[in-house]
Amino acid sequence: MSGTYNLFLVALSLLVAMLASYTTLDLAARIRVLETAGLRRFFWLLGGASAMGTGIWSMHFIGMLALRMPMEMGYDVRITVLSLVVAILSSGFALHIVTSSELSRRRLIVGGIMMGLGIAAMHYTGMAAMRMQLAITYTLWLFVASIGIAIAASWAALWIAFTLRDSTQHHVLIKRFGAALVMGLAIAGMHYTGMSAAIFRAGAVGRNANSVNGNLLACVVTVTTLFIMGVTLIISMLDTRFDERTLQMTDSLEKANKQLLSLATEDTLTGIPNRNAFMEHAESAITRCQQSKRPFTIMFMDMDGFKTINDSLGHSSGDKLLQAFSRHLIRSVRRDDVVARLGGDEFVMLLDGMGERDAIERIARSVLARMQEDFCIDGVPLRVTASIGIASYPKDGETVEALLKGADLAMYEAKHKGRNTYRFFEATMSEAAARTLQIYRDLGVAHERGEISLVFQPKFGMGRELVGAEALMRWRHPEMGDIPPLEFIAVAELTGQIMQISDWTIREVCRQVKQWDAAGLAPVKIAINLSPEQLRQPDFVEHVQAILVGWAVRPERIMFEITETMAMQDAEIVAGVIHRFQDVGFDIAIDDFGTGYSSMAYLQQFRVKQLKIDRFFTSGLDDEGVEGETIVSKIIELAHSLGMVVVAEGVETSSQFNKLKELDCDEIQGYLMARPLKPRDFEEFVRGQTRSPDKAGAKEAVLPSFGSAVKTQGLLA
Ligand code: C2E
Ligand code: CA
Ligand code: CA
Repeated sequence: MSGTYNLFLVALSLLVAMLASYTTLDLAARIRVLETAGLRRFFWLLGGASAMGTGIWSMHFIGMLALRMPMEMGYDVRITVLSLVVAILSSGFALHIVTSSELSRRRLIVGGIMMGLGIAAMHYTGMAAMRMQLAITYTLWLFVASIGIAIAASWAALWIAFTLRDSTQHHVLIKRFGAALVMGLAIAGMHYTGMSAAIFRAGAVGRNANSVNGNLLACVVTVTTLFIMGVTLIISMLDTRFDERTLQMTDSLEKANKQLLSLATEDTLTGIPNRNAFMEHAESAITRCQQSKRPFTIMFMDMDGFKTINDSLGHSSGDKLLQAFSRHLIRSVRRDDVVARLGGDEFVMLLDGMGERDAIERIARSVLARMQEDFCIDGVPLRVTASIGIASYPKDGETVEALLKGADLAMYEAKHKGRNTYRFFEATMSEAAARTLQIYRDLGVAHERGEISLVFQPKFGMGRELVGAEALMRWRHPEMGDIPPLEFIAVAELTGQIMQISDWTIREVCRQVKQWDAAGLAPVKIAINLSPEQLRQPDFVEHVQAILVGWAVRPERIMFEITETMAMQDAEIVAGVIHRFQDVGFDIAIDDFGTGYSSMAYLQQFRVKQLKIDRFFTSGLDDEGVEGETIVSKIIELAHSLGMVVVAEGVETSSQFNKLKELDCDEIQGYLMARPLKPRDFEEFVRGQTRSPDKAGAKEAVLPSFGSAVKTQGLLA
């Protein structure tokens, strides 16, 4: 018995086969790109296998439906589904082979056989699903031929898919259409060969309950398949577009990055290279000079007192000065040398090929000499100087960092040696200098970072009543820890940073006084230490007055301490300053008395309120013998004869206290009574004091205790 073919369905089956092939090829290319993207690849592989499997299977199915038999036909649903699963599995397997990195000959052969067998298995499983009143037998050679065609078609398909998978050019579409045509024909060829191998004989299996109607099935299968493949293709296209967009975005991002990079290599204010760019220049100089064994030199420059100029004339003038300075530097060097701004008023020059001392010195001198000419900023002629530090490769360092540090240290040394000069790096400018240098650098930002604070050390009368307090600066450095005020103040004085720091102290004391007042604390007179630089300022007293007026703090609330050494150095000038201070209502104390050489005449002339005996003499009171005691006694006598109140500093023991009392000292300050206290602790301390009034004569400690900050030893042991 034989049937006839419905030509429309045959054409449809061929179309489906080609569409399935096209989809598969498209997906193969897609999956290939996703090679490394784990999960995404897996899902595309799954989707691809489903689309391809469904495609091949439905081609086969439509092909079978195209065969019209002169009787009713049906299909066993379970076996039909099984044939679909077989199709999907073998498609998945094929796709996996095609999209993995290499397709060896062996792989192609084995893969093709597996796939071909898969398709054949699918076909014959599908045939077995047929339910009709006919029995099927197969013509052997046609059966074998159909399997052979399946395998050959699979080989061709795998090979084509593999060669096309990487193509990204546009004519790949045409190639892919061609390949899809071949593959579609091959798959269809296998099917129809397989069909012609079948011989249907009457009287076999009947329709069973599980079977479904063939025509309905044809519609469902075709529509579903077309839908699945359409969706797959659309998603694939969208995904490609998405990838292209990502590619475009990456592209423009790269461009933006490049622009940023060029911005990041130029100092915006002066237009010369910035630190980053300089580091790169220096790195490549090292690489170059390593090979050619040539030296090069780095000069580190810093304007002297730039901060003061910047603060007094304003930032825009400061900016113009920096621009003028950078132009000046460029004029001082050769065309190939690099001039860069590291930040602030710090500049560096890289002098290529230069290592000889004389030549370097000539350049340094010429930079300094040119500075002698005035810079004209906003019509104001400004005379600025610079300090220069010099380090050469490879003598002074073999890395950019080492060279920069060396030049920096040398520059600092130049500042130390009186500014407006240059210094060559020497190995002796080592650790200590490096520490000083770091203090110098970080002091500039310490205030902004809130690392500097004030503590207050109470002063007492001999009856242990609170009579005042001294404000002392504290700097907690994030890396270096607590830095003693003597250390950083010395650096600040050297570098000209002291004015900013000192101003801050005065303002901060005012602010604190105001805050305590507002909190209802009993008023305590606060002493502020002055440094020599401040006294040298022409309008210093007026300046201080202005600050106090700004904070509405009365002069009686503040006193100033001037060290004996400071006072005697410029005694005439200091006497003038002291008198002006006194005229406007401030008290003055001579600090650290006994450590310098005092002129009686000046001391008389100053007419200051207080004289503070240096703690060296206080500690001398504990020594054996009477010598220490005699000196202190003499100082007290002298002070009293000049009408001054005597304060003993650094009182640590009760015996010192007792002797000072015997010697008629007026006030004491020291760890025995209280250590310098944080503002909050000081406030509590003062409150405690005012609650427990004078208890002179008590045998035991009577000071309220404030944690570990306050020592409360017995006073009258
Ligand atoms: P100074 O003015 O003589 O301050 C007293 C110093 O002695 C403080 O040291 C204080 O903590 C310490 N001291 C107080 N009682 C005792 C004690 O019983 N035993 C011992 N061994 N030491 C005691 P500090 O705070 O380290 O200050 C050192 C110096 O730094 C001060 O000496 C002062 O000259 C200077 N200084 C501190 N703050 C400022 C400031 O704001 N401006 C200026 N210009 N100088 C300041
Ligand atoms: Ca002091
Ligand atoms: Ca002192």
